[in-house]
Amino acid sequence: MTFGQPEGQHAPLSDRLASDYRQVVDIHSDDPVVGACLVCRVSRCEDWRFASERLFGFVEQQAEQATVASLPERQSDQS
Ligand SMILES: [Zn+2]
Repeated sequence: MTFGQPEGQHAPLSDRLASDYRQVVDIHSDDPVVGACLVCRVSRCEDWRFASERLFGFVEQQAEQATVASLPERQSDQS
């Protein structure tokens, strides 16, 4: 099955799909008290991982360099 999507290229999520994934991330995010997804009873459950990867995966890749560059600063912040 094909959706007319070029291979090896990340298609941007449609608004509908993005809001669906956002809902899944919201429902399946770890509860601060329980420390796990309240639906699956698993920390960072599969549903949460799948949806957040779709939602934030490409963002993380783009921001990776900036994050790595700013990491060492945090450790030397304590005195
Ligand atoms: Zn879950």
